[in-house]
Amino acid sequence: MRVLAIGECMAELSPKAQPGDFHLGFAGDTFNTAWYLAMLSPDIDVSYFTAVGDEALSERMLRAMSEAGIGTRHIRKVKGRALGLYMISLDKGERSFSYWREQSAARLLAEDTEALNAAIAESDLVYVSGITLAILDGPGRNTLLEAMRSARRAGKRVAFDPNLRLHLWDGAGQMTEVIMQAAACCNIALPSFEDEARWFADKDAEATLDRYVGAGADTVIVKNGAASVHYRQNGRNGAVPVQALASVVDTTAAGDSFNAAVLAGLATDMPLGEAIEQGCRLAGQVVQSRGALVPIRLNLLEQFA
Ligand code: ADP
Repeated sequence: MRVLAIGECMAELSPKAQPGDFHLGFAGDTFNTAWYLAMLSPDIDVSYFTAVGDEALSERMLRAMSEAGIGTRHIRKVKGRALGLYMISLDKGERSFSYWREQSAARLLAEDTEALNAAIAESDLVYVSGITLAILDGPGRNTLLEAMRSARRAGKRVAFDPNLRLHLWDGAGQMTEVIMQAAACCNIALPSFEDEARWFADKDAEATLDRYVGAGADTVIVKNGAASVHYRQNGRNGAVPVQALASVVDTTAAGDSFNAAVLAGLATDMPLGEAIEQGCRLAGQVVQSRGALVPIRLNLLEQFA
């Protein structure tokens, strides 16, 4: 199985114990999912599609991706642009974020339509999020939506996590409209109930399932934090309970890691209910540690308990 994750990976500066010292890492929703997929199974060939700058930080990120087992051959370098960056600040245990990503190279990722289509042609599963669409301009967005549509028509799996982030869009109307356009271009939708309820006024997970199935997705999985995951696949409904955890330390990348484990399961034709259980087990471990990328040295595909 060859997976292509499409989106923006940014440099992340997170505070160390010594005030003023920061750790440099790399993160971003679709990248986090790619990272977990690469960690979960050596049998899945994971590549990332984005655009980076021609500066040293971009080079460092490409090295970090390769070291994590993520293919970088489809990543384009854009002259004069730089990697997006964000910094985490801690104030009495509360995290806040500062972003420098308005002019990031990744915003141009869909400019080279040929490169995008060539990368998709080499993949079996394409993974896109609402954040990927949000950072593009209008033409870029249309290029990516069309590429998703064609990939689906060509028999590939197209997975989409709406990851609704209002601040990246020109208003809620634009966000909800484009998200539903993308919903019509994917066959696997992975929304999170809390966001969907807020922006689409869904009264329960059933309403979210109905909306994504109505748009055209044949598999819809609705995450809901500590509550059960509801799903519908080819008209059949199911729910998977989430194990209660004694302590939740940091929910960063809960959904991203969950998606990776579900997609890894689907890659081996695991029944959807089992793939979701696997997703809950991985996300359950991730939320018990700090940070987006939590190394878990267990081969999930061999069913850890
Ligand atoms: P997102 O990060 O996309 O908002 P969720 O918060 O719904 O996604 O979480 C995704 C998955 O992470 C859940 O389905 C669950 O398996 C796990 N998870 C998240 N929060 C908790 C929690 N408080 N307790 C146990 N599991 C959790």
